[in-house]
Amino acid sequence: MSRVIGIDLGTTNSCAAWVEGARPVVVPNREGARTTPSVVARAADGELLVGQIARRQALTNARNTIYAVKRLIGRKFATPEVERARQLVPYAIVEAPNGDAYVEMGSKMYSPQEISSFILREIKEYCEAALGEPVEQAIITVPAYFDDSQRQATKDAGTLAGLEVVRIINEPTAASLAYGFGRRAPETIAVYDLGGGTFDISILEISEGLYEVRSTAGDTFLGGEDFDARIIDFLLEHFERQTKVDLRGDSMAMQRLKEAAEAAKCELSTAPTATISLPFIAVAGDEALHLTYTLSREQLEDLVRDLVMKTLEPCRNALEAAGLKREQVQQVILVGGQTRMPLVSRTVQEFFGRTPSRDVNPDEVVAIGAAIQAGVLQGEIKDLVLLDVTPLSLGIATHGGLFTKLIERNSTIPTRKSQIFTTVTDNQRVVEIQVLQGERELAAENKPLGKFELVGIPAAPRGVPQIEVTFAIDSNGIVQVTAKDLATGREQSIEVNPAGGLTKDEIERMIAEADQYRREDQRRKEIRLLRNRLEGLLYTNERVFKEFGNLLEGSVRTKVDDALQQGRRVLESEDTAVLQAAIADVQLAARYLTEVMLVDPTRMLWSSEAASGKGTEG
Ligand code: ADP
Ligand code: MG
Repeated sequence: MSRVIGIDLGTTNSCAAWVEGARPVVVPNREGARTTPSVVARAADGELLVGQIARRQALTNARNTIYAVKRLIGRKFATPEVERARQLVPYAIVEAPNGDAYVEMGSKMYSPQEISSFILREIKEYCEAALGEPVEQAIITVPAYFDDSQRQATKDAGTLAGLEVVRIINEPTAASLAYGFGRRAPETIAVYDLGGGTFDISILEISEGLYEVRSTAGDTFLGGEDFDARIIDFLLEHFERQTKVDLRGDSMAMQRLKEAAEAAKCELSTAPTATISLPFIAVAGDEALHLTYTLSREQLEDLVRDLVMKTLEPCRNALEAAGLKREQVQQVILVGGQTRMPLVSRTVQEFFGRTPSRDVNPDEVVAIGAAIQAGVLQGEIKDLVLLDVTPLSLGIATHGGLFTKLIERNSTIPTRKSQIFTTVTDNQRVVEIQVLQGERELAAENKPLGKFELVGIPAAPRGVPQIEVTFAIDSNGIVQVTAKDLATGREQSIEVNPAGGLTKDEIERMIAEADQYRREDQRRKEIRLLRNRLEGLLYTNERVFKEFGNLLEGSVRTKVDDALQQGRRVLESEDTAVLQAAIADVQLAARYLTEVMLVDPTRMLWSSEAASGKGTEG
């Protein structure tokens, strides 16, 4: 059996880990980073970019850069969630013929499964490079609140990436596995996971290597991105008040703003203030406009306090579902990058009345847990059993449009439940089984997962036939439904294949396309990255040069001008060495420019030494 890797396929960042010598370790990616942005982009030359490379060029290619696709996976286009997602992102979200939400990238339509598969493919490849052997199997984590179609779609993404997904596990469960690894004392724990796009809370019992999820709750549309959006709105309003210019229509400006907002937010987790500085964000008439603002931690907290408070409602629900009081929770584990914000940990601490655990790294703990589960499956880690729960109730539609639940939410899986049903009319020969998932009373208000008919029921008065309906959920949370006529033994079943989703043919076609991509030259990727770096540098510095260039001393000015012109000339070069040299030159030019821009020119004393690059540099 080849090595099974654990993957946290996050909305914002993904992380992979495996078990080495009975210990879980994170696998660094090609760039040496321990997490990889869940970003995919199509460059102007048609190249597919994944991870940090894709994220870095988002600025200049916003419409073809797909991030947070996890918010769309397994969802229909015509849903409020997708509608909201459409308002948040600069790329196009479109309706596929089967009603699913797809995205547009490089004027082609992609399913969220495909986009996710590009990320998974990248992870598979860097793991293979690091491990030195093929990686064919994975455990992928999903938010506890993901429904059946979202889980299926995640599994399909794995298949498309050439990975057999041996298990889908819930993110908070994975986190608790990582937390509990090596601990033996029985404990009731809460896992509070606030990531980029989703919030999850789970209550678990762990004891002697047995992990039992008692309840889960959450919000699939609450995360760090909403925090960023608050800062962005605030800055937009501030800028508009100052300059009368509305930046909302300018996708380039918006993208720069988004990056700056997120960076400031992260900085404010450790610093009391953060300065956002976006030179040349807009032009009014002939005048270039700059956005500069110093945001304090208190201001940020005021902007997002309601978002943080919004996480407490699911916490209450999860406690109630587990039949526990807050005081009975003995440990709280913080997961997800957004929990690094002091206001978040403080709020959690106040709610549960205890200091959250600082033993686990919030960015890596989910992948580590997935790797531990992989180790268990492979027999490398012993004495550990994971009992997960189903996040939503499952049942069928019954007479009068009612929803009859067979499996209640938060039931431990794998599980199996049967119930006897009967006919509505005399001599009814066919029954229709409509499988639904949800918590509402009326069938129509729950999510349809699929339907089938059981035919050939012998003629009988209404209420006489006995039809046994069985629901079985496997350890991935995937549902199988069977209906059996007890008189004849005739039965019919489906593995729930959510309406929509991907067909087998589509999956095969996509796998073929993915193979094509895999053969693409890695070197071209690197060139693309260098070009983007150069272009970004040129973009800012040319403008700075235009405005402040005349403040530079003559020979320096020529040097800077030459570097910028040379940069433009070689921008399309295919030669990495040429691009690297140009980047180095422009970076040097940028240093001169930054100095004249920041220092009051009347206080500047240039020396020829500084001009020739030998002077002291700051
Ligand atoms: P996901 O599980 O959705 O992929 P992550 O757990 O990686 O997300 O969290 C990403 C979110 O955490 C982003 O919104 C990011 O801005 C935020 N984040 C990361 N580091 C910090 C920090 N130091 N302070 C505040 N927020 C942070
Ligand atoms: Mg996460």
